Amino acid sequence: MSTRSDGPDISVVVPVYEEAENIGSLYGALNMHLEQLNQSYEVILVDDGSKDGSWEQLHRLAVEHAHYTAIRLRRNFGQSAALAAGIDHARGAVIVLMDADLQNDPADIPKLLAGIQEGFDVVSGWREKRQDAFLLRVLPSKVANYLISRVTGVHLRDYGCTLKAYRSEVLKSIRIYGEMHRFLPALADLSGARITEIPVQHHPRKYGRSKYGINRILKVLLDLLTVKFISTFGTKPIHAFGCLGTVSLFLSFGLVLWLIYDKLFHGKYLIESPLLLLASLLFLVGIQLLALGLVAELAIRTWYESQDKKVYYVHTVVSEADPSAEGP
Ligand code: UDP
Ligand code: MG
Repeated sequence: MSTRSDGPDISVVVPVYEEAENIGSLYGALNMHLEQLNQSYEVILVDDGSKDGSWEQLHRLAVEHAHYTAIRLRRNFGQSAALAAGIDHARGAVIVLMDADLQNDPADIPKLLAGIQEGFDVVSGWREKRQDAFLLRVLPSKVANYLISRVTGVHLRDYGCTLKAYRSEVLKSIRIYGEMHRFLPALADLSGARITEIPVQHHPRKYGRSKYGINRILKVLLDLLTVKFISTFGTKPIHAFGCLGTVSLFLSFGLVLWLIYDKLFHGKYLIESPLLLLASLLFLVGIQLLALGLVAELAIRTWYESQDKKVYYVHTVVSEADPSAEGP
């Protein structure tokens, strides 16, 4: 399956924050299922600034086992950053992400890999029988999945499940900011990835506790707004700001015309009407929005050109000189 001669077939990336009691069983479960795969693999464990002895255990694993790499971040940067660090170090053709608390089950990895082999770029795990509190976890998550699916157009039942497999080049082309790891499939879709979803197991957390509270709901909604904005206007922000700005300016001019008409034909003083204030506000807002759109256009040019990023992703190139590419 490997497309790279130097890396393994599969990289499993696991973010770890204060999971000392889980690491022993995590190793046991990973080892059992990965050894049966008949494919080369590596496991990258990223300690996200734990202070509970997790690092000492990860360190020992990496020293004792050739397939294991441990990375220690300088402080707690959050799950997204820990995943990003692991992904940067991963050398496999396929990257599987999963949690360290064994709520995800490595027994599902072969199923995910089968999806990749079928030709999908992202195989998303769906915790069909989720083992978390209904009111505080499962219900908000159902609403979030519905909203994210509707807004992004990438219909998945479980964005929140970390256990997913990605073709390496697709995952590595995504920059993960803030807490955006939840939106990875939607972000992959922007580069044209083929995505599928399969049910995976889910177990209750045995040791340690969840690192998230109910306040993540608002954060997810704000992140969704960002993803929607980037996917719709990411390369053309002036269209978003410019449209709003132009509407605002038109309303302002319309109001001024009305006020002039009122003065000429009904003899009203301009300052008698609050509409003059509204017209001035709309004028200022319109100018501001247009200016913001132009600044955003400068910003995205800096973003793309400073990193030599392309505004497209090529799937296949066929030419007479190299007809080796697959058919349609
Ligand atoms: N995690 C992390 N950094 C953090 C918070 C969480 O690396 O700041 C890891 C954590 O150790 C676990 C995974 O991210 O492996 C998911 O966290 P958790 O189980 O708390 O989330 P939940 O399953 O409750 O959504
Ligand atoms: Mg968990």
